[in-house]
Amino acid sequence: MNKSPLVALLSLGFCFPSRAAEQLPNLSDAKPAARFAVTDITWPAKPGDAEICLWKDDKIAPVSFTVDDNWASEVPWWMEQSEKYGNFPITWFIITKKVGGRSNGGTWDLWREAVARGHDVQSHTHTHLHTEEPDWQSIEWEYAESKKLIEENMPGHRARILAYPGGPKSKLNSEEAAGKLYAGARWATGTLLPVNAMPYLGVRAITESSFDNPKAPWADPKRILTPGDKVFRTWCVPIYHGAGDKSVERPFFKWIADNKDKLWLGTFCEVSLYAQERDTAKLEVTENTSSRVGFTLTDRMDDNVFDGPLTVKVRLPDKWKTVAGTQAGKPTAARFVEHEGKPYALVQAVPDRGPVVLVAK
Ligand SMILES: [Zn+2]
Repeated sequence: MNKSPLVALLSLGFCFPSRAAEQLPNLSDAKPAARFAVTDITWPAKPGDAEICLWKDDKIAPVSFTVDDNWASEVPWWMEQSEKYGNFPITWFIITKKVGGRSNGGTWDLWREAVARGHDVQSHTHTHLHTEEPDWQSIEWEYAESKKLIEENMPGHRARILAYPGGPKSKLNSEEAAGKLYAGARWATGTLLPVNAMPYLGVRAITESSFDNPKAPWADPKRILTPGDKVFRTWCVPIYHGAGDKSVERPFFKWIADNKDKLWLGTFCEVSLYAQERDTAKLEVTENTSSRVGFTLTDRMDDNVFDGPLTVKVRLPDKWKTVAGTQAGKPTAARFVEHEGKPYALVQAVPDRGPVVLVAK
C-alpha cells in the first residue's frame, strides 16, 4: 500500500525525533517582537514538571566583559582583575592584522594563553575598516579573514562572534554579512535592551561609566538585577578599549563580585549561544515515575555551532534527596537543590544530543 506524503512525513519525523529539520546559523531579527514573558526565578510545581532556565545555572542575569582593539599590554591587568573580582571571563575582540606586528596587537602565543586560562578571543575584523590599506577587499573579506586567521592560529578554537568596529567608517558594517559567518555579533555602543527582544547580530554594549550613574540611567548595570525594571534579567555587555586609570578602585568590579551568586559571568560567545538555543528550544517530559524522570530537548539552531548546554530545572519526585543525570547514556551534570522543602534538579543538557534521564543516586 502506498503511503500518503503526509504519513511518510510523519513516520520520518517519528524515526528521527531529535534531529531538528532546521539548522539556523543565528537569529537575525534586528528588531524582534517580545519572544516570551519575563519573570523572576520560577519553580515548577508538580513532580516531573520541567522548564528551561532563562540563564545558565538558573542565574538572574548574565554579564560578559569585552575588550576591543587587542590592547595586549593590558591583558595581564585584566587577568588580575578577573581573579580578584569573582573570576569573570573576558572576551578580547581582536584585530587580526595587528597580531604579531603592529603596536599593542599581541602575539598568537598571548591569545592562545588567554583562551587556555578560561577567557575568550573573538573577531574584531581583520583591519578595523582600514579601507585605504592595499590589501583591503570588502566588508565580507574583513569579517572572513579575521575568522580564518583566528582559527588557523588557535587550533581547536572557533571564532563564532564578531564585534563591529566603530569609528567614522562604521557604516560599512553589515549585520547581514556578519550573519553569514558568525553566530552572533556586538556593536560598540548602545544601551540595555530587554532580554526577550535581543537582536543577536546586533547586541549593544555599555560602558563602566554608566554603573550607578544617575546621569546614565539607561545603561546602569544594576538594573538587570532589579525586579520590575524593563531590563530586569537582561544581558549586560560592558565594552572596554584601554582600561583607564588602574590605580583607582572599581566599584563596578566590586558589584560584580558581590553579586556573583545572582550573575552568570559568561563569555560573550557562551551567552549568545545559550540565548539563541533557549529562544528556539522545545522541552518535552517523556517519562515521569517515582524512580525516573526523562525528557528530550531540541532546538532550531545549527548543531555544529550551537553546542553548549542549557540548564533545565526539573521538579523531582517528592522523596528524592539526590539526583544523577545522563544524556544519551553518558553522565551529565545535574545539581540537586531544594526550594521550600521540595526537591529540584538543575540539569545541563545540550539540545539535539539525545534523551536525558534523571534518577536518584
Ligand atoms: Zn575597535
